[in-house]
Amino acid sequence: MVDVRGQYLNIKEEVDTAIQEVIDSCAFINGPKVKSFKANLESYLKVNHVIPCANGTDALQIALMAFGLKPGDEVIVPAFTYVATAEVIALLGLTPVMVDVDPYTFNVTADIVKAAITTKTKAVVPVHLFGQVTGDMEEIMELAEEHNFFVIEDNAQAIGADFRAKDGSVHKSGTIGHIGCTSFYPSKNLGCYGDGGAIFTNDEKIGVNIQKIANHGQVKKYHHDVIGCNSRLDSIQAAILDAKLKRLDQYCAARETAASYYDDKLSGIEGLSTPVREKRSSHVFHQYTLREHTGRRDELKNYLKEKGIPSMVYYPVPLYHQEAFKHYAPNINLAVTEQLCREVISLPIHTEMNYEMQDVIIEAVKSFYE
Ligand SMILES: *Cc1c(COP(=O)(O)O)cnc(C)c1O
Repeated sequence: MVDVRGQYLNIKEEVDTAIQEVIDSCAFINGPKVKSFKANLESYLKVNHVIPCANGTDALQIALMAFGLKPGDEVIVPAFTYVATAEVIALLGLTPVMVDVDPYTFNVTADIVKAAITTKTKAVVPVHLFGQVTGDMEEIMELAEEHNFFVIEDNAQAIGADFRAKDGSVHKSGTIGHIGCTSFYPSKNLGCYGDGGAIFTNDEKIGVNIQKIANHGQVKKYHHDVIGCNSRLDSIQAAILDAKLKRLDQYCAARETAASYYDDKLSGIEGLSTPVREKRSSHVFHQYTLREHTGRRDELKNYLKEKGIPSMVYYPVPLYHQEAFKHYAPNINLAVTEQLCREVISLPIHTEMNYEMQDVIIEAVKSFYE
């Protein structure tokens, strides 16, 4: 599905040198590499504060902790997402309110969010699924203002994407809400060689608070103001990320090129639909996800597997059907989420892809329908 090794080999010398520098310096925790990556990511995203942390799940948890929410407070979250988004809400004793998504973009819309707002709503977590920013971010921010809740963008799959606001200004994904969160898991669009994550915000107060929470609730060493946690990006991962951040736009472009090629060759097939672009966002194609409308998705997956072609189903089960989550919403049945769980299939996409590799995959998909 991805080619982490191929990508590494193309930048090996630079990455190896950066890792060796960290080992030579022995500044493994909060060393100069962490500081430089933090500063470089701030300038890339044009955001005031980046707080690196241990992984994307921690980023989401710390973001929620920054608002001092109380048990029973409601947090609106799409039911069609990776478990981490809802898991941290539940872990903090908050109530996940699982909502449906748009059938074409797979993201929540302002109308969907609006319908789920109650007096207990304290936060909304739009997930920029598969690599494009939730198109209704501005409308969701207006709802937030009106109903007094916070917006945390789950940007784990969309780092590098551009959001075009109605006034013509362009914003990097994850910098539109009150807080943005991302993951540097190796297969993510900006991935390290282990675990990593980061939290972004333009708000000075929130930024200081997040930094404190991620560091045992302390600003001054051994003086703990609040209950926090220990969540750090280590220096070796930061050094690797610094080398890869310089290439992020190039990596996004390579994914977009591969996606357009798939679009071209696969769009004519009856029974299959190619990805639909959000109106206000570029697409960085963390995943290239098709919908299979003829009820043969699993058959297609097995067919490809027999031909040696990997594919994945993100995600096969709605959150509210998961054993761990079903008590939050025993009676819901979200039509689009149900349908997507039956229909979606993601094809390999990565930065080292070429047309020859794609042709093999395209021919295999076509032959399934012949
Ligand atoms: C990967 C991912 C996460 C979690 O990131 P980790 O670094 O694995 O903890 C959260 N949300 C979404 C949508 C993701 O894709």
